[in-house]
Amino acid sequence: MDLLDTLTAKGLRGEIPTREEALAVLATTDDELLDVVAAAGRVRRQWFGRRVKLNYLVNLKSGLCPEDCSYCSQRLGSKAEILKYTWLKPDQAAEAAKAGVAGGAKRVCLVASGRGPTDRDIDRVADTISAIKDADPAVEICACLGLLSDNQAERLKAAGADAYNHNLNTSEGTYGDITTTHTYADRVDTVQKAHGAGLSACSGLIAGMGESDGDLVDVVFALRELGSDSVPVNFLIPFEGTPLAKEWNLTPQRCLRILAMVRFVCPDVEVRIAGGREVHLRSLQPLGLHLANSIFLGDYLTSEGQAGQADLDMIKDAGFEVEGAGEATLPRHRADVAAAAEGGACGTGGGCGPCGGHGAPAVEETGADAGTGGSEDGLRSDLVRVRRRGAGTELAPNA
Ligand code: SF4
Repeated sequence: MDLLDTLTAKGLRGEIPTREEALAVLATTDDELLDVVAAAGRVRRQWFGRRVKLNYLVNLKSGLCPEDCSYCSQRLGSKAEILKYTWLKPDQAAEAAKAGVAGGAKRVCLVASGRGPTDRDIDRVADTISAIKDADPAVEICACLGLLSDNQAERLKAAGADAYNHNLNTSEGTYGDITTTHTYADRVDTVQKAHGAGLSACSGLIAGMGESDGDLVDVVFALRELGSDSVPVNFLIPFEGTPLAKEWNLTPQRCLRILAMVRFVCPDVEVRIAGGREVHLRSLQPLGLHLANSIFLGDYLTSEGQAGQADLDMIKDAGFEVEGAGEATLPRHRADVAAAAEGGACGTGGGCGPCGGHGAPAVEETGADAGTGGSEDGLRSDLVRVRRRGAGTELAPNA
């Protein structure tokens, strides 16, 4: 297939495909699916071998957000019966993080709901970073606290944060359809603030919110342009009690095509399968490892993932290996870019919102790509399990 030969050759050289080529990946058929996975898998192995980076989420502050992101179970007016709690104390957060690190996580992601942190919140997170790094200095810390004000990124960097996550989530053209309380430009600004302060930029997307193929390609190209070092690819978890609760249109095949497209556009960047992995890829999760080089271990912010041990078993059974603390995630030339950013040479970055990835939007698909199963009311409570353990509870976390 000429398309895949071209994309593989470009990916192996670290070159970016054209917009038309990226769109063509999303338009491939189920008959071509394994060829698409094999082609993008070659690109993945070129830059990341068979390593899988594990990341662990600690939800520092859950629910009760004043923002209205329609995909999010923590949004203003959400009826989702999620855990709601205010800031965890540093020792509580460090205890939660320890479980993930013991399970093999290399990076701990500290996430808080809300529009953005106050300066007092930055102090709290700084204390939490210290508590985690005192226990294990090798742990990477990524903060995800929403929109940043001036100097907050610098303060997080000084406190020991390695990265900042703020997802663009969807294309600039459709951003106003999913959120009205802040703008796409606000998100870009925070990504740039984080990157400008020398934090590694983590910024990704959510697929399944009713966007077009063009929207998906637009946001991935925007993330590439922003210089995101890691790109979390979330698949909408349609939470009951949110506006997108009935948006069940993704299929495992569609998810794999999206991951392959992201890999071709971001050949040498950490591509992470984020929220919705179990819900939407289901039994095809192992194929996703041929495309992405990073996943979350265990549970998500407000929903449960599969058991952490099941994640580890899947990685081993599929012929991959967990990336160790001493191994570099990014290829050498990308690491050089990150180092240059620390010196202030690069003004771009990636970023997210407080929980950009575990809410619930959906994709418009029809025919062979349409979702399967489902109840008459359009909800899938059999697939979405609200988190009831770990941070903010008395129960041991899943890691
Ligand atoms: S994504 Fe973040 S800002 Fe938006 S509603 Fe959820 S917690 Fe609030």
